[in-house]
Amino acid sequence: MDFLVLFLFYLAFLFISVVMICIFTKNQRLKSLVLGGAQVCSCVIPQCLQGAARRLLHQLFHTRNPAFIILHLLLQGLVYAEYTFEMFGYCQELEFYLPYLLLPYLLLGVNLVFFTLTCSANPGTINKANESFLLQVYEFDDVMFPGNLRCFTCDLRKPARSKHCRVCDCCVHRFDHHCIWVNNCIGAWNTRYFLIYLLTLTASAATIAILSAAFLVRLVAVSDLYQETYIDDFGHFQSVDTIFLIQYLFLAFPRVIFLLGFVVVLSLLLAGYLGFLLYLAATNQTTNEWYRGDWSWCQHCPLVAGSPSSEPHIYENIYSHGFWSNFREIFLPAIPCYEKKKK
Ligand SMILES: [Zn+2]
Ligand SMILES: [Zn+2]
Repeated sequence: MDFLVLFLFYLAFLFISVVMICIFTKNQRLKSLVLGGAQVCSCVIPQCLQGAARRLLHQLFHTRNPAFIILHLLLQGLVYAEYTFEMFGYCQELEFYLPYLLLPYLLLGVNLVFFTLTCSANPGTINKANESFLLQVYEFDDVMFPGNLRCFTCDLRKPARSKHCRVCDCCVHRFDHHCIWVNNCIGAWNTRYFLIYLLTLTASAATIAILSAAFLVRLVAVSDLYQETYIDDFGHFQSVDTIFLIQYLFLAFPRVIFLLGFVVVLSLLLAGYLGFLLYLAATNQTTNEWYRGDWSWCQHCPLVAGSPSSEPHIYENIYSHGFWSNFREIFLPAIPCYEKKKK
């Protein structure tokens, strides 16, 4: 049962990861694959259940709610509980260097601090008081961000690089994206916390993955399992090979094996996402700008819409001022004095 539950959980995690990658990619083929899958599901699932699923999805993804924060903490708690109560003791018996074993706890502490900051910090909400200040921060490029635009919902002028978040129901300065895992927008004033949160989360997953792999390797080395023999189904003596060892470890330490699988996949996904965000930071783009960069602005930009030419306009990023300057902008964002005093 233990094995089956872990395996199903593992498959569900992989499935959700693949679907999320397909949804958020620019690749239209992958998107249409998910839409096709959703259409097939809609033919199979009864109407009443579809309505309930739609309401649930709307509640989860289009309103502010703590569901994913709870799931995040639950998963983190499960990983650390398994590490603490099963692996830590074994690793000490196998004489692992203690600071290496304590490193995941240090990373967890830093991670939780920056997780809290990302969740609770003001991402850069635009209001009547800071509207004129924020209008001065970035110049309008008149392509993706035309001047003199108003947000009809907030009834405020839209500073360049801002966007109205439908989930938070406010305009956010240097809007990056709305993150369901922190139940907050990622904008000008909390991107710095989000980057450190993601960095420590990736590092803690990778550290636990390395320690789990090292634990299994050392266990095999110390127990001399390689030199043992076993009797196969036909009654013949066979020397232990790699396949037998993997089967043995699966049966003897199923939770450690699944923990290893989970943190390896998680580390790769997080490292890929972190690399993408660092690339955006280094080139001074937001996820919103990167996503819209290729095509969507062409259809909405008044300059292009009114133009007789059907030539595609190449979007030029005017906000990048060099590697270090771009990072300084993220870690030392422009904040009005009275907003600083509030903190
Ligand atoms: Zn707005
Ligand atoms: Zn938001």
